[in-house]
Amino acid sequence: MSELIDYKNGQFHIENCDVESLIERFSSPLYVYSKGQILKNWREFQQYWPAPHKLCYAVKANSNLAILQLLAEHGAGFDIVSGGELQRVLMAGGKAGDVVFSGVAKSKDEIIMALEAGIGCFNVESEAELERIQDIAAAMDKQAPVSLRVNPDVDAKTHPYIATGMKANKFGISMSLAKPVFLKAHSLPNINLIGADCHIGSQIMTAEPFLDAAQRMFNLVSELEKDGVQLTHLDLGGGFGVAYQPEEPLDKSFYLKELVKLAENYPQITLVLEPGRAITADAGVLLTTVEYIKPSEDKNFVLVDAGMNDLIRPSLYQAWHDILPAHENKRGGDQLNDIVGPVCETGDFFGHARHLNVQQGDVLAIKHAGAYGFTMASNYNSRGRPPEVLVSGDNATLIRERESFNDLVRGEHLLHQEGQ
Ligand SMILES: *Cc1c(COP(=O)(O)O)cnc(C)c1O
Repeated sequence: MSELIDYKNGQFHIENCDVESLIERFSSPLYVYSKGQILKNWREFQQYWPAPHKLCYAVKANSNLAILQLLAEHGAGFDIVSGGELQRVLMAGGKAGDVVFSGVAKSKDEIIMALEAGIGCFNVESEAELERIQDIAAAMDKQAPVSLRVNPDVDAKTHPYIATGMKANKFGISMSLAKPVFLKAHSLPNINLIGADCHIGSQIMTAEPFLDAAQRMFNLVSELEKDGVQLTHLDLGGGFGVAYQPEEPLDKSFYLKELVKLAENYPQITLVLEPGRAITADAGVLLTTVEYIKPSEDKNFVLVDAGMNDLIRPSLYQAWHDILPAHENKRGGDQLNDIVGPVCETGDFFGHARHLNVQQGDVLAIKHAGAYGFTMASNYNSRGRPPEVLVSGDNATLIRERESFNDLVRGEHLLHQEGQ
């Protein structure tokens, strides 16, 4: 367990801030992130790298402006999947030239926005998208830097909803059909073909699928060279698994060292990685307060004030998150509890059959909620999304306010209003 997010003197802390004080100050439920842990994760990625490389943080994992700003200040590039994410990166001080634009169905407006901003690279997912970018770039009299996303057909052995690199998935161009598309991209006047990319899935816990995909991608680089196409950029995506449970974590150091070895024969290539979850997941918790305890025959329902709209991973992916009470002495015990939210869905749960000894009013911390937590939150059941706080040492800074009712109805119109 990370020492930045842990018990100190029997009280659960995010760095030096105890969670009950955070709830008193900012109210419940509440997302809290540790600045120290984000930077620790970021530096861990940086340290393994050989000379030419780029690390592009995947914005969709956690896109709060302050977090993007923090990473931009530490030299991050960014991987985006929408025009909205591009605007966030630019607003947070990131440079468009350090951004790679992924996404399976980029709209015309998004392509125009990216070309105007001077995007570093389009990760193109289909021949049709390539043609669209060529047409738009020609009309704007610009050169579009392009990498083609290839589907390397490897089994990432992860949850089917987050596996993206098998033949059956919608992502990328299949390896067997890729070559003619590269040759076409090479020939188009407003396309500057710089590289190839892949992203085989998310929450991958072993190095093998990554290395398998990397080997296939390097082979492709060699193949294309024989056809006179010199690539200089190889983007192997993100997907680095995080230990949500007490389990063996992905050996990043082994993977990256092996990757560096593979890359030695390709000095012309700048390697790119797109970690998202691995940077922010274990740096964040969702704090929630027990509203009621409802006993049933064999367990208690612990009804909390956060819901699946705030953190959907358990419902959507059957994801397991550790849930810890603010007071260490309330851990464990014989009592079994289902930790559930207030939303009108049976799928609205955070954990089943957990050993906790908690009462009404107690604060719980749902761990590893820093990635795909707030960014996947919704207003389902007309619930405002929680505020977000960034902690550094003793300091806690509000980086997003709780949504108000006015936020929820902004932009809606009644049919007939008196006086109109
Ligand atoms: C989601 C995504 C990532 C980040 O995945 P993580 O599992 O969060 O590291 C990187 N690249 C692409 C193309 C993605 O879609």
